[in-house]
Amino acid sequence: MRLSRYFLPLLKETPKEAEIISHQLMLRAGMIKQQAAGSYSWLPLGFKVLNKVIRIVEEEQNRSGAVQLLMPTVQSADLWRESGRYDDYGKEMLRIQDRHERDMLFGPTNEEMITDIFRTYVSSYKDLPLNLYHIQWKFRDEVRPRFGTMRSREFLMKDAYSFDLDEAGAKRAFQRMFVAYLRTFYRMGLTGIPMRADAGPIGGDMSYEFHVLAETGESGVFLDSDLASKPVPPIDTDFSGDLSPIFDDWTSLFAATDEMTDEATFRASVSGNKQLAARGIEVGHIFYFGTKYSEPMGAKVTGPDGKDVVVHMGSYGIGPTRLVPAIIEASHDENGIVWPVSVAPFEAVVINLKVGDGQSDAASQRLYDELGRAGIDVLLDDRDQGAGGKFATADLIGIPYQLIVGPRGLKDGQVEIKHRKSGERETLSLEAAVGRLAALIVPQRRDTV
Ligand code: ATP
Ligand code: MG
Repeated sequence: MRLSRYFLPLLKETPKEAEIISHQLMLRAGMIKQQAAGSYSWLPLGFKVLNKVIRIVEEEQNRSGAVQLLMPTVQSADLWRESGRYDDYGKEMLRIQDRHERDMLFGPTNEEMITDIFRTYVSSYKDLPLNLYHIQWKFRDEVRPRFGTMRSREFLMKDAYSFDLDEAGAKRAFQRMFVAYLRTFYRMGLTGIPMRADAGPIGGDMSYEFHVLAETGESGVFLDSDLASKPVPPIDTDFSGDLSPIFDDWTSLFAATDEMTDEATFRASVSGNKQLAARGIEVGHIFYFGTKYSEPMGAKVTGPDGKDVVVHMGSYGIGPTRLVPAIIEASHDENGIVWPVSVAPFEAVVINLKVGDGQSDAASQRLYDELGRAGIDVLLDDRDQGAGGKFATADLIGIPYQLIVGPRGLKDGQVEIKHRKSGERETLSLEAAVGRLAALIVPQRRDTV
């Protein structure tokens, strides 16, 4: 992509309405535009990051055995009357009528609809286990939409729904999602910490929220600091095998939000040097709810003994449009965003310091082409403006590597690489630049680990 042909509406000033750093930076970097309270357009740079986040979510859901489909945003109220939630949901639900005055709603979640799909097509235990997911817009009329896309009214959710014959099967499904979530957040450069959450009337230990630690997080969290540095299960984890050892290993360490525990219990449970009291952003939630929807909605299969069994279900959410600001909260400095390579809008930017200078133009173009051919997601800053502004832009939008090309270096056949995160700079020959960048970038994609 050539920056001169791109659409990147940067803001000079920090908008007053933005209280937290991620919201400020997303506005300043031209990633989002507010359209109404809690409603945002994703501008090209933001949308590019969002798509990388979505891709990782999809890859890890698929790896764990979940199957993707797509359900509509607007749902019929009748479906929700079957589960009893149409009346229970309250003001968070956006209720709509069509021209025939039929009650509709903009889906805040999809348990009812997926249960309807299941009961229509699945009738035998042989078709289980099954986990279906989609990534679709949700609307929740939040009391306090705030912090940009962190808590918006219209937001994207990955919601998966598992169907099993019994609680033991549901537990295996739950553990598959647990491991998939650990890997998903790791691949985005995040530490997603599983925290024991409210399991509702069912009780038990099959409700976990995943939190990213950040000062601006809305939840108070208490954890054993070992969790923050624990290596996640590798890419060759066998999702058809027994994941209990991994699950038990992670959940044996203390981690809970302040809704689930209190400081005294935490201090008594974790040894002094490992006590970490912090704030967290909830980026995912996995939950087993048994037959809450399958029972009233009649989602049954024939069991091995020929008798009907009401299926056991769980649901598993991740918020991609919340993850983007969560990543920024976890990774920025005074100059702007510092994207992890795996979700960066571009992996590298070629900065042509002197547009119009024949040698600089030719070298920049050549490097840009070669990087593209090497499979690097690259931006070319070919805007006719001063070097200072170009460096500031590259820093603000957080591109992990800047390849700086100008007449002074080119005299000696040299260019410079600046590492966004560390600030480190290296001078190298024109010929070596592409290979060096690929060697830096490829391992940080985290797509083979
Ligand atoms: P919260 O406690 O933050 O309101 P929730 O418990 O209502 O979240 P879930 O119903 O568990 O959220 O939804 C699954 C995921 O969807 C959350 O973990 C979060 O990542 C995302 N999410 C929920 N509400 C919003 C929102 N208003 N804006 C952006 N993302 C959201
Ligand atoms: Mg939740």
